[in-house]
Formats: sequence, C-alpha cells, structure tokens
Amino acid sequence: QAKESGETYQFYRPEMNAATAKRLNLENRLRRALERHEFTLAYQPQVDFRSGRITGVEALVRWLDPEEGVILPGTFIPLAEETGLILPLGRWVLEQACAQTKRWHEQGFKHLKVAVNLSMVQFHQKDLLEMVQEILQRTRLEPRFLELELTESAVMRNPGTAIRILSELRDAGIQIALDDFGIGHSSLNYLKQLPVDRVKIDRSFIRNMPVDSADVAIVTAIVTLAHHLRLRVLAEGVETDAQRDALRSIGCDEYQGYVFSRPVDPGDLVPLLQQCLHAP
Ligand code: C2E
Ligand code: CA
Ligand code: CA
Ligand code: CA
Repeated sequence: QAKESGETYQFYRPEMNAATAKRLNLENRLRRALERHEFTLAYQPQVDFRSGRITGVEALVRWLDPEEGVILPGTFIPLAEETGLILPLGRWVLEQACAQTKRWHEQGFKHLKVAVNLSMVQFHQKDLLEMVQEILQRTRLEPRFLELELTESAVMRNPGTAIRILSELRDAGIQIALDDFGIGHSSLNYLKQLPVDRVKIDRSFIRNMPVDSADVAIVTAIVTLAHHLRLRVLAEGVETDAQRDALRSIGCDEYQGYVFSRPVDPGDLVPLLQQCLHAP
C-alpha cells in the first residue's frame, strides 16, 4: 500500500485473480479521478407537454478519463457506492449542478429546475440535509429549484426511515422525485404516504409503446394513480414521436429523452432554452 495525498492506494498482488485486479485498478483510477477533477456533468432537458417548454434538466455525471475518454456512470457508480467514494463524488455533483443552474438563472432562464440523482448511500448519510442546505446557500440557489431523484427501490428498502428523511428535505423546500418508477417492488400503499412531488416512469415501460398495449395500460394506470395522489408524472427515455404522442394523450405531464435531446454540455443547453422561449 502507498499513501498519496491522504488516500490509500492498493497495489496488485500475485494471489489476486484477474477480476479483482481489474476492480482494484478501476477503484484506484476512480480515486485519482476525484483528486484530479476528471468528472463533468451533462444535462438532459425535461419538457412540459402542455407548454412545450423546458422546465428542468437532469444532471448526469460523466468521467473524462485521459486514456479511455468518456466513461458513463453505469460503469463506475456501483463501485463508487461500494467504496464510499460516492460521498465526495455526490457532493461534487450537487455543488456543480446547483452552481450551474444559478448561472442559467442569471442568464435569464429564471424558472429552470435541476434534478440531481442521489444514491442510496448518500440518502443514508447522517448529515445529508445539512450538506444539501450548505451547498444551496453557497451557490445561492433557492431550494425549490432543486429536485433530488431517488430510485423507488432505494426508498422502499426502508420506507419508515425514507419517509422521515424525505420529509426533512421537503420541509426545507427541496423537491423529490421517485426515479425508475414501476420496476422496483413498491407497494402502492406506501406511495400514498411518501412525501414526493413526482414520479419518473422507467424507460422500460416506454420502450415498446405504443405497440405494446400492456405497456400502454401500465403507463396509463401509473399516470392516473399519480394524479389522484397529486403527483406529477415524467416519462423517461422517450425516443420516438409515436411514444411522445401516446404519452401526451395519456395525460403524462413531462418527458425526457432522445426525441427532444440527449444529455448535453452546459454550453449547449442555452440554445435549447432560447428556442423553447418561443415555443407555441
Ligand atoms: P437514470 O437516473 O435513470 O438516468 C437516465 C439515463 O437514461 C441516463 O443514462 C440518460 O443518458 C439515459 N437516457 C436519457 N434519454 C434516453 C433515451 O431516450 N433513450 C435511452 N436509451 N437512454 C436515455 P446515463 O447518463 O448513462 O446514467 C445512467 C445512470 O447512472 C442514471 O440512470 C443514474 O442512475 C446514474 N447516475 C447518473 N449520474 C449520476 C449521479 O450524479 N449520481 C448518482 N448517484 N447516479 C447517477
Ligand atoms: Ca435519474
Ligand atoms: Ca431513471
Ligand atoms: Ca435507470
């Protein structure tokens, strides 16, 4: 083991198998990437069906590895969670997203909200509320413009605790979205009690719409139920006009997906925002 700027690095030992060595290599690179600020955020627009305008953006982390190029979160978030590196990484993501959104507000896009993914590990960190509030104060972003996305399965693992933490966040004016809704084992009974503002329907239900009538039925049921509970509904992973049209007629409130825009660099969002100001 070797020490480098306070972090512990592990080196390959002959008795390790290939998979372990590969993992260790990734972990070491991840640590180094944090120190060297090799992460960046892409932002994907969320569009309101009724106005056609961008109401918010979801911040999605990318790792710019000097050798391998852009690495998507699916590759490193699970390891970051296992090693605890998700805590400093998650804090960085939150601060970047809030600071960037404040800049957009100052450029005249005053109503833009930002959604930030929160891992289950972060959700259960002791000082979560304090950490979030500190970042909001430092970046001078009003809490109502921040939405934290939690997966349904993260929340449902321990509903009692989740309800308490979510209530604290919401009392502080922060919005909450249930991510990947429909694929977790959520009890509808809990949905009634959960202090959340909206649900994001998982892409797997959208993919085969409108051809698959079972998926249309499921999405319709989710939208109807959510509206009865006074929750807004966003569909994610919308790729085609046909999917968008079907979702609109079902009464879904917002959508996000390649049909409107892929996640983009912050500089590329401004033209999209301007274009939306003139939308019908
Ligand atoms: P997610 O929260 O469900 O994010 C949506 C994913 O779907 C993103 O993948 C996005 O690029 C992708 N996507 C958006 N529109 C479409 C579409 O029309 N078609 C298809 N096929 N895909 C679409 P990405 O950026 O690779 O992120 C993957 C996952 O990594 C996210 O899933 C989220 O769970 C996690 N993640 C991303 N950023 C963060 C972060 O800052 N913190 C944490 N804890 N997790 C993150
Ligand atoms: Ca998400
Ligand atoms: Ca999702
Ligand atoms: Ca997902």
